Amino acid sequence: MARLVMKFGGTSVANVGLIEKIADRVVKSRAQGHEVIVVVSAMGHETDRLVSLAEEVDAGGADSVRELDVLLSTGEQVTTALLAMMLVKKGITAKSYQGHQIKILTDDAHGRARVMTVEEDRLLADLAEQRVPVIAGFQGISPSGRVTTLGRGGSDTTAVAVASALQADECQIFTDVDGVFTTDPRVVPEARCMSRITFEEMLELASSGSKVLHTRAVELANKNKVALRVLSSFNDVAGTLITSEDQIMMEAPLISGIAFTKDEAKLTLRGVKDQPGIASKILAPISEASIEVDMIVQNTGADGNTDFTFTVQRSDFQTAHQLLAGVARTIEAAEVLGDERIAKLSIVGVGMRSHAGVATQMFEILAKESINIQVISTSEIKISVVIDEKYLELAARALHAGFGLEVVAET
Ligand code: ADP
Ligand code: ASP
Ligand code: MG
Repeated sequence: MARLVMKFGGTSVANVGLIEKIADRVVKSRAQGHEVIVVVSAMGHETDRLVSLAEEVDAGGADSVRELDVLLSTGEQVTTALLAMMLVKKGITAKSYQGHQIKILTDDAHGRARVMTVEEDRLLADLAEQRVPVIAGFQGISPSGRVTTLGRGGSDTTAVAVASALQADECQIFTDVDGVFTTDPRVVPEARCMSRITFEEMLELASSGSKVLHTRAVELANKNKVALRVLSSFNDVAGTLITSEDQIMMEAPLISGIAFTKDEAKLTLRGVKDQPGIASKILAPISEASIEVDMIVQNTGADGNTDFTFTVQRSDFQTAHQLLAGVARTIEAAEVLGDERIAKLSIVGVGMRSHAGVATQMFEILAKESINIQVISTSEIKISVVIDEKYLELAARALHAGFGLEVVAET
């Protein structure tokens, strides 16, 4: 007998027919003798619908950010009730819970709150009495008693936080694909489902745009030693286990996966003086506006002048552009250039550590397709490039084939 947290994403609970299928999976796990705690997302595109409703009101301001969380949290509430009803219909005692009922305590960063604690008493009492708790993902309660949400995709993080608090044997993330693939299978049909991947690689993939797992869920699972598995809601497959590096064979493939995102935009300040203090003058107003900067490049100076380029979330582009125009006047830069039509593409692999030449190979593959690289950044196990967004799919396919990802032997 194992204690399992089973989390079902939006597509997996998009209608009552699918909710019945999910209920059958829970019934099956119970019949195998497991203790089950369920975490659910909102049905289908419900969260998007709620976001658009709020945009229609277009209130702005801190109060509206708090009310947005109240609005968005309703999506998950609907699913908890429907699934609990369905389970009861199938003869399983089940009970729905919203974040505040459990309680899932978060900080007060509305829209991107972090889970601080999960109270386990009620959940343990349910398990002791053979009940299945059905928990709303994505939401919690702040120290001042307001409803919070954890950021888009955050139900994965709820599942891991619950699994950690209850010391579950496995946290199972059920989704609309068979597991974690070498890249998004909807963009590259040759993508291969991996039986295992390291936490480190999964973290880099998730934070670089592979939305199959919420980045903070991977972080938390790694920190609290939660066994995390991604698997299909629709097919009976083993899925992908996220594991520590020492559990994976020594001869790991060079590259494990490719992630990409169109969520960023690029800003360049041309003709800035090449002198100490300039970078901080440029970025200070950006960080004061709580805008996160991702990649940063400064060219080697020529004639005492240089260009300074960085990327931000696309939703922050207009604000960042305006702030930069102000900076340009203060520091007497030549001009501000902005480009929203970019994509960031990253290759990730622990094998990179012990192999030189991966970057060269990546650049050669892109050059063969005549794809221009605009910005490059690297970390120990990741190389990211910014390219024109119209070449994203071509680049992803070329790199997938070029690094032989569809044929790499499973470890
Ligand atoms: P859920 O609603 O179940 O949380 P998401 O839409 O958040 O599902 O995540 C699943 C989607 O992630 C898949 O449909 C797939 O298109 C996308 N995806 C991106 N990169 C990968 C990858 N490397 N492996 C698997 N899926 C990926
Ligand atoms: N429903 C939320 C979203 O769409 C959370 C989640 O599904 O993980 O982002
Ligand atoms: Mg998701």
